[in-house]
Amino acid sequence: EPVPSAEMDGFCRIFGVETEYGVAVTGAEKPVDAGQVAMTMFQPIVSRSRSTNTYLTNGSRLYLDVGSHPEYATAEARDPYKALAQDLAGEHVMRNLALKAQRKLRESHGEHATIHVFKNNVDSAGHAFGCHENYLVRRFVPLEAIEHQLLPFLITRQLYTGAGRMTPDGFQITQRADFLDEAVSSATTRSRPMVNTRDEPHADPDSFRRLHVIIGDSNRSQWATWMKLAVTHLVLCVIEDAFRQGVSSGFEDWAFADPAAANRAVSRFLDMPDAELLLASGESVTALALQRRYYAAVASFVANHREMMDAAFAGEASGWNVANAAVSPTAAILGQWNRVLNALEQGNYDALADCVDWVAKRRIFDALHRRRPNVTFAQLEQLELDYHDIANGRLYSSLADRSQIRQLLTSDEIERAVHEAPQDTRAALRGRFVEAALASGAQFSADWTHLAVTAPERREAVLLDPFNAASTPEFDALMSALQ
Ligand code: ATP
Ligand code: MG
Ligand code: MG
Repeated sequence: EPVPSAEMDGFCRIFGVETEYGVAVTGAEKPVDAGQVAMTMFQPIVSRSRSTNTYLTNGSRLYLDVGSHPEYATAEARDPYKALAQDLAGEHVMRNLALKAQRKLRESHGEHATIHVFKNNVDSAGHAFGCHENYLVRRFVPLEAIEHQLLPFLITRQLYTGAGRMTPDGFQITQRADFLDEAVSSATTRSRPMVNTRDEPHADPDSFRRLHVIIGDSNRSQWATWMKLAVTHLVLCVIEDAFRQGVSSGFEDWAFADPAAANRAVSRFLDMPDAELLLASGESVTALALQRRYYAAVASFVANHREMMDAAFAGEASGWNVANAAVSPTAAILGQWNRVLNALEQGNYDALADCVDWVAKRRIFDALHRRRPNVTFAQLEQLELDYHDIANGRLYSSLADRSQIRQLLTSDEIERAVHEAPQDTRAALRGRFVEAALASGAQFSADWTHLAVTAPERREAVLLDPFNAASTPEFDALMSALQ
């Protein structure tokens, strides 16, 4: 069956965010390791699904591989705002699991035992873990083009999406630059690439790819999660359309000569904001100037395609009102992008403390330094961990309570996303199925493209089209097997 032309020709996209969390315990009266704590967190999941790998009624995937990094992969969303809601639902789910496990732990390990769940990317032992962004991309875009045309953008967007990190040698604006080496690779375990090329589209492989971006930091700032998805989407629209039309995107000559070196330099932006980065073409350019080039190219593309690009976000809720209730979704993204680049170009970093994680964190560290000049690195590290702790951290929520960091979603909207899948993708079907299967007590299994009842008799429905939220005869038959 051919893919409907609206989905091949237009600018619609599927977004998904995978977030791995770090787990730690403090205050316990006897030793307990993070792996045990993670298992305790997953006890309710295991007793429900007989597995540490499960799908939830909001269409998301929750799992624990070996080790102590629980992961939440959001359901498929058609726009960055709903993907953000799903990612925050993941924080909510993890926090509940942690607090439940903490009550249990206190029975055996003392009343001060405290579980920390970090939404960050580097643990105290120096191991890095990830936050992956997933974008559905049309198959006619070759992977090499993504490497050459998108990677320079992904590396430099960290100027406003980086989560920042305290290191003994100073403050870096990203968490993981020192841990990523290769530009692209099909393995995420052996080497640490920036874009994973493993070909698992979770969709019709003749029409689509799933672009699997590894280079991003986990963000606490809601704005930053929204922004990284939104801006990357716009850049992908330009690249895709160029291949569709057989014209130049304008990004062909912007590849870095050494992406890993450029990445490390961007991470040290505060030490050398004017560092010139070498391109493969032989030209040199600063990170900020390269972002400005992308911005200008995207803005002129949008000027010619805005209606169609906005239409891809039809059904979008209030979330675009980040800047101004009157502007269109695409204009809102551009407006935020321009605001951020202006502030960075003026060196006015503090103007971004309400939205950029690294700026918010650095401002807190600086204030503490002024009040207590003898503050140690270890104390700053503690404070930093608190910012990332979604279970028991106080710093981030106090910033949010005082409106010092911008909230894009209300707690009601987040609560809804905990229970409800995006209604305009196949995640809606998965959510209905999981809910019905749990209610009936049936044995079931699921993944992104399959739903199955496994006993007494196996029945399956395939959901190959991520854009399709309408039930199919096969899905209906599966649902009636659950009655
Ligand atoms: P790993 O954890 O080993 O990296 P993975 O990246 O293959 O695994 P998951 O952790 O299962 O996969 O997460 C997949 C993510 O991709 C989810 O957030 C999901 O919503 C998203 N996704 C599913 N189908 C598509 C698609 N067709 N295009 C883009 N994203 C998709
Ligand atoms: Mg994953
Ligand atoms: Mg992944």
